Amino acid sequence: MTDLPFPKSLPDFQRIFPNDAACAKYLENIRWREGFRCACGWSGEPYRFSSRPGVLRCRACKTDARLTAGTVMQDTHTPLSVWFWGAYLLTSMTPGMSAVQFQRQLGLTRYETAFQLLHKLRAGMVRPNRDRIGGKFPVEVDETWMGGQTRGEGKGTHHKTCVAGAVEIRQRKPKEDAGDKHSKAIPRRGGRYAGRLRLSVIPNRGAKTLTRFVSDSVEDRTMVVTDGWGAYDGLGEMGFEHLPVAERGEARIAEEYLPLIHLVFSNLKAWILGVHHGVDPQHLQAYCNEFTFRFNRRFYPFNSFRSLLGLAGSLESHTYEELYSGECKHSCASTG
Ligand SMILES: [Zn+2]
Repeated sequence: MTDLPFPKSLPDFQRIFPNDAACAKYLENIRWREGFRCACGWSGEPYRFSSRPGVLRCRACKTDARLTAGTVMQDTHTPLSVWFWGAYLLTSMTPGMSAVQFQRQLGLTRYETAFQLLHKLRAGMVRPNRDRIGGKFPVEVDETWMGGQTRGEGKGTHHKTCVAGAVEIRQRKPKEDAGDKHSKAIPRRGGRYAGRLRLSVIPNRGAKTLTRFVSDSVEDRTMVVTDGWGAYDGLGEMGFEHLPVAERGEARIAEEYLPLIHLVFSNLKAWILGVHHGVDPQHLQAYCNEFTFRFNRRFYPFNSFRSLLGLAGSLESHTYEELYSGECKHSCASTG
């Protein structure tokens, strides 16, 4: 399916998906690579209806096939072009948007329609990934406190929620730096940049909680870089190649040895504060999942576009094998 066109820019998008018919054709090509085939076995050129671009009728048994069946667009009256545009808007690493912004962007007259659309597309983002990261790539692991007010209770962590994060350390190959016309858009330190990410809301920073987060999120025998916090001490015995660095609490050292996960945390906080104006602890995991979804697909908007519309297929697993060719203009992708 990689040969199906996908827009690389906004003008590109408008050219490839100018109307409902173009979107329908796209869905048709995904479903029937060899041309239309009805469940009854008949294949050939089906009946088409200009007023109903999402429907193809078999010329033998007269059964209608709906192009949106099995996708998030199924059983809705919203035009295909609106769904496509909405999914495209959501796939960018731009901070995400409110239903009001979404309504305006999509030119929808009803707020409720925008809200429902956004809600359905988002549902595809908040399902957590189950596979573990790392393997041949080392992983940075750390925890951070989110939200909460200290209200004069002094320096500390009152009323806050703890989030654990693990992120792969990727290394750009030197030859790929050479002649890269986008290199200015990818600031990086020694070619290091973030690969896949996992985030989890955790009840405390104890040894049991943190080592469990690591074993749930990171493949066995991966090299795991953490700070000197004693709760991570058991990782070596669990079969990880544990690399504890530096004294805890020293910002300069943490910045040097755990730059990627710290960058992720600061982006996550900015995003939650800026877009969602803070989050109730009970919804924090869902927001972490959405952030992770965007982050892990930032080089491949095509994949997230398809995931959101419910069209995701075999492509998903390729994402990170092809990562090196990705371009990212967002600060969260680099080590600054
Ligand atoms: Zn048929």
